[in-house]
Amino acid sequence: MRAVWGIAVAVAVAIGGAPAAAATVDVVIQAGHQGRPASCAPNHVHACNMGASNGSDREIAWTPIVADAATATLRAAGYRVARRPADYPERDTARIYIAIHFDGADPACSSGTSVGFPATTPHAFVASWEHAYLPRFPFRFVGENISTNEEHYYGFRKVDAPKKMLVEYGEITCPAQAAWLRPRLRDLGRLTATFAAEQLR
Ligand SMILES: [Zn+2]
Repeated sequence: MRAVWGIAVAVAVAIGGAPAAAATVDVVIQAGHQGRPASCAPNHVHACNMGASNGSDREIAWTPIVADAATATLRAAGYRVARRPADYPERDTARIYIAIHFDGADPACSSGTSVGFPATTPHAFVASWEHAYLPRFPFRFVGENISTNEEHYYGFRKVDAPKKMLVEYGEITCPAQAAWLRPRLRDLGRLTATFAAEQLR
């Protein structure tokens, strides 16, 4: 068996480090930027984007709070969740993939909330999220796929799922939006979980 094991390890190393432990789950929740910059080099990430900040709040600190609340809510309801950081070697299979981000803008307050999704994701899925969130978010809805980074988000390539979406919950660099978002991070996670659970029924 030693020779066979050696080949297996060689193959795993060749495709990107440690042997993969890909998950087959209901939902993959990714916290944007979490784990960087340490995760970039081992995962061959060249554009090691650390996320937005406003001097006192950092996107990289907020996204895990939202992601953990969404994950806990979904797991409590009996759903299988793979909770992922920014960079990881596994390729998961899921029914829904959601990436969690907050936007930064210059000039401040020129942005707001937005969503990104690949062409394979049904628009009705994205529209359902907008229906859930936009009435609650008292600032600007910037739109869908407002940048190539949203439509062609690298995380979309790391999961096989019929429904994939990146959510920018608001603009962290806008003081009014940050003040609204800051005490609501867990609520945003629970809202995201409720939305996902409704889509899974
Ligand atoms: Zn981000």
